[in-house]
Amino acid sequence: MTLAGHPLQSNLADEVNQRLIRIMALVGLLGSALIGMSTGSLALIAANRSIVRQSDQISASISTFLQAESSKSEQQRMVQLYRSQTVSPDTDSLDQLVVFDGSGQVLLSSRPSLVGRSLAELLQRGDLGDGVDRASLRCFAQPTPGCRLASRSFHLPWQRTQTEWRLLNQLSFDATPRETRYLVLMTFNAEATNLLVFQQMLLLASLSILILGSLLTVLTLTLKQSLLPGLHQVAETDGLTGLANRRTFMEISEKMLNRGLDEGLPFVLTVIDIDFFKRVNDTYGHVCGDAVLKAVAQQIRVSVRERDLVGRLGGEEFGLVLSSSTTTADSILERVRQQVEASQIDWEGEPVKVTISLGAASSEHLDHSLDHLYAAADTALYQAKSEGRNRVRWAAAPRPASSSANNPSPHKRTADDHSSLAHRVPGRRQ
Ligand code: GH3
Ligand code: MG
Ligand code: MG
Repeated sequence: MTLAGHPLQSNLADEVNQRLIRIMALVGLLGSALIGMSTGSLALIAANRSIVRQSDQISASISTFLQAESSKSEQQRMVQLYRSQTVSPDTDSLDQLVVFDGSGQVLLSSRPSLVGRSLAELLQRGDLGDGVDRASLRCFAQPTPGCRLASRSFHLPWQRTQTEWRLLNQLSFDATPRETRYLVLMTFNAEATNLLVFQQMLLLASLSILILGSLLTVLTLTLKQSLLPGLHQVAETDGLTGLANRRTFMEISEKMLNRGLDEGLPFVLTVIDIDFFKRVNDTYGHVCGDAVLKAVAQQIRVSVRERDLVGRLGGEEFGLVLSSSTTTADSILERVRQQVEASQIDWEGEPVKVTISLGAASSEHLDHSLDHLYAAADTALYQAKSEGRNRVRWAAAPRPASSSANNPSPHKRTADDHSSLAHRVPGRRQ
């Protein structure tokens, strides 16, 4: 992307490019992470559902044989059959099954060693897995006001076990009907589910990075091609003249001068100001003033090469950077001055003519510092104005260090210091 045909980019172009790429990368990564997490959550919900279904079936069969006339040892044998039962090859296996009676004692267990122990003791020893809701289960053995046995716990992906429980209220039809409470507690080994969830998350996140990455790359390129030229136009150029605005002019000048320093090329920075421009506004009005500004900008632009930089520094002041030696630049600047002087615009049937004053500073006389060149060119312009306007004035080389030992550094030169540097290029007609 170039500014008014200039091959160098302003910093804005780099900044916008970098920001766009950073935003797209962030969107891509966040989007992929979100897709991965959603997939993981869905896999987790599906696995949970299968466990819940299985738990319902197991507790229903326990309920049935608790009511049957079978002996306790037969019931215990039945419960032991559930040990390590696989729910599905991809998901969890039942690790243990424990049935508590209403007092909180283990009545039956797939692990016979637990029979007779209390719920409180097993909870304390951590025998019921890490996914168990202890506070809620304690309510079964020691019901207190406000204490409620939750309907089920929720399995978190980093827990190694998933615990499910079902409360059974059995009515016995003896002489005096009474209700007996049981708690059926099932612990599932959740590692298979966790692995499955993790694998699916990883797979989907990787796929999304690929797909989203490609889509966002296409979007970035499309945005760069369709929107950025307009954005650059608005941000980098002056709306009235179409030249580089002050900020862009300074940025690109700096780049040109740095390149000139690296490649040992001379550069000339010129500040151009329209003479008595206020009179144009006062006589013909602001709209005419604007038309003159546009015409002068155009004159300057067409008088120099494409690789030279022209900008509007503000008001009726323009900046020009020529990649030329002092001698070549002097004839170019003189030509620009003459062309502006010779041209006119037609305003409501009346010709309107202006002249320009030019202050120039060359890296051959100073250095490649934009600050130094700009200050010196500004002072030379001041000199051109004070000598009668409509002329080119040059900032000369600074005085040798020996003769100006007490002088401030070039950065801190005063207007008086600079005015003593401004001069005519020898041998040129005025
Ligand atoms: P000098 O030869 O000393 O430069 O005199 P001058 O009248 O050109 O300079 P001065 O600084 O006194 O006036 C500059 C004028 O430029 C004043 C301001 O209203 C006018 N101006 C600045 N920007 C614009 C613009 O965008 N459009 C128009 N029409 N006028 C502008
Ligand atoms: Mg002026
Ligand atoms: Mg001015």
